[in-house]
Amino acid sequence: FELEQLGVHESVDAVFPPAELAAYLADLPIDVAVIDDDDIADCDAVVTMEHREAFLEVDWVHSIQAGVDRFPFDAFEDRGVVLTNSTGIHDRTVGETVAGYLLLFARRLHDHVANQQERRWDRPAWDEAFTLPGSTACVVGTGTLGRGVAETLGGLGVRVTGVRRSGEPVPGFDEIHANDRLLEAIADAEFVVVTVPLTDETRHLFDAEAFAAMREDAYFVNVARGAVVDEPALIDALEADALAGAALDVFEEEPLPADSPLWGMDEVIVSPHCAAYTRDYFRDTGDIVRENVDRLADGEPFHNRVV
Ligand code: NDP
Repeated sequence: FELEQLGVHESVDAVFPPAELAAYLADLPIDVAVIDDDDIADCDAVVTMEHREAFLEVDWVHSIQAGVDRFPFDAFEDRGVVLTNSTGIHDRTVGETVAGYLLLFARRLHDHVANQQERRWDRPAWDEAFTLPGSTACVVGTGTLGRGVAETLGGLGVRVTGVRRSGEPVPGFDEIHANDRLLEAIADAEFVVVTVPLTDETRHLFDAEAFAAMREDAYFVNVARGAVVDEPALIDALEADALAGAALDVFEEEPLPADSPLWGMDEVIVSPHCAAYTRDYFRDTGDIVRENVDRLADGEPFHNRVV
């Protein structure tokens, strides 16, 4: 197809100002403009956060997120709409967020922040604080996110194991397990970090059985998608002290409802689906768009093509 008009859909505003990305791409040999729902029909391609039915009429949709579980793959395929995603840019950002969670728990920093709100001088019990070297993190999903987590935690002295479908080795991981050995792999870890895409196979992968397999002193970290976890089963495990705690960036329902018990748990850190946020996000995702505009002009296959 011929690319003349590329729209930056206003929904990207959840992550960065749409005008920043439009300005970043202004030197491309095509028209780039910020658009709302009424302008979709004028575009050959859109860069977006959310899905709209009208995208079935354009030629190419680029998701500013890596996760594309909200797009109707079959309908895109039927209508010949190309879908590309932003995998490949979230290694360091999510890696540092996960390292932050682990350091909060190990050094009890989340307790200090909570106590400060109450102007309370309250030291941890003598046996609460620990250091990370010598602990093991099992990272489930060894793609961009998993590798970034492995590299960042490895730098902090954590032994990092991984779980993926093939079980083939991955640089930066001390050991890799195939996913049919998930329960054995997570049983061995002080930290379990979820970095898989949401698919039919991974929906509710972390259920009561998985939480029962984990150590009672283990922390659970989810930076993938909420529905990879059976959230009521996680809440049960936390309430029963079958886990030490959890750091959660993603939830079955977002925003996390105000009445969720997760908000009030001392050993649970809630972040609002922002593990990958950085002021450079529009540049990182813009570089993928730019590369694909070039590839289209040169008749080469799209980078990060999903459909
Ligand atoms: P990648 O495609 O790079 O990696 C996905 C990895 O998951 C692959 O290594 C794959 O390995 C593995 N995998 C897939 N299915 C399974 C399975 N059934 N069991 C075990 N491993 C599996 O994706 P990214 O790392 O870029 O992103 C992963 C997900 O993280 C995204 O889909 C998105 O939902 C989420 N995300 C969340 C963010 C946030 O802000 N919290 C930011 C960015 C992404 P193999 O093929 O060997 O199985």
